[in-house]
Amino acid sequence: MGVGTDVHPFSSEPRPLWVAGLEWPGEGHGLAGHSDGDVAAHAACDALLSACGLGDLGAVFGTADPRWSGAAGVDLLREVARRVDEAGWTIGNVAIQVIGNRPKIGKRRAEAEKTLTEALSGAPVTVSATTTDGLGLTGRGEGLAAIANAIVLPPA
Ligand code: MG
Repeated sequence: MGVGTDVHPFSSEPRPLWVAGLEWPGEGHGLAGHSDGDVAAHAACDALLSACGLGDLGAVFGTADPRWSGAAGVDLLREVARRVDEAGWTIGNVAIQVIGNRPKIGKRRAEAEKTLTEALSGAPVTVSATTTDGLGLTGRGEGLAAIANAIVLPPA
């Protein structure tokens, strides 16, 4: 099994908000970052890489590499799934928890789970969410965080 976490600040500039593979129009400024800032997809990538001993997001998609500048989180997830498969592992499932005030994940949970599951060629991804009751950077609305766990089955 593997674990991944990610945090991005909300941008001070107008920017599309991407979380859990979905764009969230009307939810205010998006997340700042080298890519689209999709904390849920990024945490899932790290959980899968961690589970398979394939390094981490920074090692695989370094910020110095212009190929991944502005990349969609779901595209990174698809590439991680390809590497996991190439290394002979089979993905069991991935559970992601988003931590923050907005967007409210629940109203589009099924859509998010479908999008992320498709990026993993059908391996189930679940997306839950929580707040921190006004505490910390997520509670103050400065940013969004996510934690993910992945279960993988070893090469036969
Ligand atoms: Mg990230």
